[in-house]
Amino acid sequence: LQRTSQLRVATRSYATSASAHALLFIEHKDGVLDSGSLSALTAAQALGGEVTGVIVGAPEDVGKAVENARKLKGLTKLLHSSSKSYSPPLPETVTPLLQQILSNTPYTHVVSAHSSLAKSILPRVAAKLDAAAISDVTSVAHDASENATTFTRPIYAGNAIATVRAPSSVPLKFFTVRTTAFDAAKADESSGDVLVEEVAAVDVPDVPTSHVSTSLTKSDRPELGSASRIVSGGRALKSAETFNATLEPLADVLGAAIGASRAAVDSGYADNSLQVGQTGKVVAPELYIALGISGAIQHLAGMKDSKMIVAVNKDADAPIFQVADVGLVADLFEAVPEMVEKLKK
Ligand code: FAD
Repeated sequence: LQRTSQLRVATRSYATSASAHALLFIEHKDGVLDSGSLSALTAAQALGGEVTGVIVGAPEDVGKAVENARKLKGLTKLLHSSSKSYSPPLPETVTPLLQQILSNTPYTHVVSAHSSLAKSILPRVAAKLDAAAISDVTSVAHDASENATTFTRPIYAGNAIATVRAPSSVPLKFFTVRTTAFDAAKADESSGDVLVEEVAAVDVPDVPTSHVSTSLTKSDRPELGSASRIVSGGRALKSAETFNATLEPLADVLGAAIGASRAAVDSGYADNSLQVGQTGKVVAPELYIALGISGAIQHLAGMKDSKMIVAVNKDADAPIFQVADVGLVADLFEAVPEMVEKLKK
């Protein structure tokens, strides 16, 4: 399916030149850069122009994040702003800062990873500036002569790809990036000549929301969203005990993250944070092993771009075999222990 949508014409004039200048919202945790932001940098570079990064956070973290970010290949400038009210960043506190930054320079694009945080901030800024926002893009092509950008993005749970064109009449284009579709930008120790500039925090009186607490699921395993190997289990695992007892030895021997289908999550076998699919995480590891997962389209939407898909299912007609590179029609409770033994050897 090819669909071209004419985006709403923004009334403000932010971009005067055709060459791109992207503002990249860089996320970090305690100063460690988020891998999704590194993929967003690659997407921003694909526009073919300058890329200015912006980092916000608590004063004690921002310095470390800036040190990490200034080594990134592809960044031309780095803005940073510190305030207790940016830790964690809230849409209500960060939006006025971004609005101010955008009003000072004729940026053409605002870019971020398609993360929970950016999804709450970027559309708010876009709405405040009466600009269009395009989410979850998988490719970017900028035509500098026409000052138009063409994006692709999955729709209908990834069953169709929409082509969306933001013409020159949309002077400031906001977009979030499906991080699995872009390689992470690399750090280059020899660089570091990025222009770094501090921006004063914008004080927002009477913020209507406040951050109360963050409750993180702790795991020694690789993070699901960025793991190169994932072992995923479905409803067939029967209980939380058998889910863990079956998947963990295989994940251990492969150094893999553990994922789950929604049926496994809804049945209480696995934590919500492990769900892969349309309403869970979108992953594209080197290796994805689906155990007792039927392959519903909503699950495939989250993993079908994996480089190598291995499926174990006792039903030879299970739809998962249509996307699998390697399929094993077998009872997983027999096949998995055998796989673990062989891998250990
Ligand atoms: P089932 O479909 O019940 O499949 C179990 C499979 O295990 C079967 O194929 C069976 O043959 C096999 N099996 C049984 N016993 C064994 C055994 N001993 N050895 C080997 N194989 C065995 N789902 C997601 O996963 N992620 C999402 O993000 C998601 N979002 C959704 C959003 C919406 C709006 C909707 C409507 C649905 C969504 N779903 C999602 C649910 C999705 O439609 C399926 O219901 C779900 O993926 C099924 O999970 P499953 O494959 O584990 O279970």
